Amino acid sequence: MKILVAVKRVIDHNMRLRVKPDGTGIETTGMRHSMNPFCKNAVEAAVRLKEAGAADEIVAVSIGPDKARETLQTALALGADRALLVQTDEMLETLAIAKLLKAVVEEETPDLVLLGKQAVDDDCNHTGQMLAGLLDWPQASFASAIEPGPDGLVVTREVDYGRSEHFVPLPAVVTADLRLNVPRNVGLPAVMAARKKPLAVRPLSAFGVDTALRLRTERLDPPPERAPGQALETLDALVATVRDLAHGVRAE
Ligand code: AMP
Repeated sequence: MKILVAVKRVIDHNMRLRVKPDGTGIETTGMRHSMNPFCKNAVEAAVRLKEAGAADEIVAVSIGPDKARETLQTALALGADRALLVQTDEMLETLAIAKLLKAVVEEETPDLVLLGKQAVDDDCNHTGQMLAGLLDWPQASFASAIEPGPDGLVVTREVDYGRSEHFVPLPAVVTADLRLNVPRNVGLPAVMAARKKPLAVRPLSAFGVDTALRLRTERLDPPPERAPGQALETLDALVATVRDLAHGVRAE
């Protein structure tokens, strides 16, 4: 089985996000970036399938600026065999990303495409579903377990009412939830070895995909400031505070 894993470079989830003063977007300059956490779960899942003998090649793909090479280096250090950067400085919507991934799938012909369930910068949760729709492939989103079977995969999905288990014939698209696994830490030897693995860079224009924007962001506002919390010394003080709040004696 050949696996394609889509990995996105996002502002590191530990950074405090700031809206640009003119409200046109999120401030990205000076922010630490890293691989989207759900994409790390997707790479880890691919590596575990390879370690279990169920996969023989893992190709990591990222669409974004030249700096996304770092994200691909992380994927290679985690265990991907080679990487492809679709290089662009354009702002892309998820439909364009899904169309580009479809073009990569058509060239690479993987049996399985693994993605994160969502990117933590836009929280869209679109790309895997759109890609499966464009390819007309079966999909299992929010995977919390993936077991290889003789003719496909058994995927457990995290759903509101619990877990649901599905047989998914290949080729298929699967998106990773956080509970799928705990991604391994990569040590210096793996980082050094990753530098020797192939990383191809191709411009967005090489894929002939319509990336025209279909949405316009009118304005972005930061969430309203919340009043700071209060530290109370005793349970009695807590009870009195809650009672006063309930009776409107104190402002929240
Ligand atoms: P989203 O639909 O934006 O929440 O992203 C869901 C998943 O799609 C991510 O976890 C990635 O696996 C993949 N994806 C989204 N954007 C990109 C990108 N620019 N490059 C590679 N993969 C991406």
